[in-house]
This record gives sequence, C-alpha cells and structure tokens, in this order.
Amino acid sequence: MSNWIALAKKNVFLIDLDGVVYKGSKPVDGAIEAIQRLREAGKKIIYLTNNSARSPLSIRNKLEGMGIACAENELLTSAEVACQAVKKDSLDGQKGVYVVGSSGLRDLVVNHGLKLATHDQCGAVLVGLDLELSYETISNALQAITNGALLIACNSDANYPSDKGALLPGCGAMLGAIEGAAGIRCNYLFGKPNKLMLQVALERIGGVLNECVVIGDTLESDILMANNANAESIYIDNDQWHHDSDIVRSFSSKSLIAAVNSMGI
Ligand SMILES: [Mg+2]
Repeated sequence: MSNWIALAKKNVFLIDLDGVVYKGSKPVDGAIEAIQRLREAGKKIIYLTNNSARSPLSIRNKLEGMGIACAENELLTSAEVACQAVKKDSLDGQKGVYVVGSSGLRDLVVNHGLKLATHDQCGAVLVGLDLELSYETISNALQAITNGALLIACNSDANYPSDKGALLPGCGAMLGAIEGAAGIRCNYLFGKPNKLMLQVALERIGGVLNECVVIGDTLESDILMANNANAESIYIDNDQWHHDSDIVRSFSSKSLIAAVNSMGI
C-alpha cells in the first residue's frame, strides 16, 4: 500500500477507542466529525478496545452519550474475545474462572456461560483491569496458578490515557504483578495485539482482511495486531509517552480527523 488515496478505498475501519476517539470522558478533537465522514462515505466501522473493565453496553452508552452511534455489532472488547475463547476451548477445564478484574468482567464471564469460581476451585485465572487490585488478590491468583490454574489475560496494555492527560496503569500492570509473583508468563493473551481480536471483529462486522484498516495509538497493541494479521494500519501519533520501538506501521497521523483528511474522505 503506497498512498493515502488507495487506503481510502478500503471499506472496513477497525478503530481503537482510548486515545483515538476519546480520552477519559471527553471525545478527542475532530473524532466525531471524522467518524461521521467515514459513515457518510459508506465505510463499515467497528470499535476495538482493550478496555476490560467496562461492559460492552456501558462503552456503547458512553459513545452514544458523546453523540457517536454504535450498534451492538460495532464494538468488540478484549474481555469478550477472552471470554469467548475460554468458553470455546474450555480453558478453565470447566472448573470455573477466578476473575482479577471488575464487576463488568465478572458479568461478562457469566454471560458467556462460564462459571465464576474462587481461587482455590478455579481452572483459570482471568486478568482484566482491576482498579482495586490488592495484595490479597495477587496472593489468591498465585495460589490458583500454583495449584494448576491457567493464567489468562484480557490484554497486556501497560497504560491508558486519562482525560486529565496523565497515563494510568492498564491491565498489563495487574498481569505483571501476578506474573512477577508466579515467576511465569501468562498462558494466553487475548485482545490486541493478538490477531484473534481482528478476526473476531471482521466476523462480527462482516468484513474481509484485505479490505480493512486498523487505526490506533498504541504500537504494541493496535499496530502490532495489524502486523500480526497482515492488515493495513494507521498509527495515531498523539504525543503520549514515547519509547523506542521498531514496530513497523503502514501510515502515521496526528489524529483520526487528520487521517480522514489525508485519505480525502
Ligand atoms: Mg488507544
């Protein structure tokens, strides 16, 4: 793919939320207009988020509260992908899941037909963003893993942007604490950059790989997922915290609206 105009012919846009569409409770400047223009151009949109704390319904409500319409099949969270995979492949050995995460993640586990279990009964420890992570929770997860439970993460995102501009610890911080305690790496990592997230999203929206573009502001999750799946990507370089990375991106832009302008949409 050599130029923006060719990119504009793609018909499925997989758009990251945190840092691209909104920061905390506020929409990013120009994001609402950019999405409107993509829709007017007849593009299919699906929002992909590694947010593993909020339920899909609450994220859709948040978008709609900002004036961004989002149908049920237009949002996919890393927690949904993780729960689907745990259920489909019985990764918990049907013994149940010990959740390190929010009540939203626990609800999602139950909604996927999985059983919630205590740390001493479970077959898997599922890690999401846990705003109340405690020493006790880490200890419980450690005991579960020592007893043979698998360690499964919704994602390994180090951090995410708040509406005040500061970065906040992400799911990767919870995962890191448990991995550090157990001295192992997790057995399964769902969400971005796992290309399963992209595949499930395309199934959900009815799109094909060579017609899609991934747009996101994190090289290690959004852009790496695109690379893992051989999809085109636009890296939104929004001046968050930078560190050296050799992850290749197809295109870069300062914002979603700048990208849409570059494509001439
Ligand atoms: Mg992001």
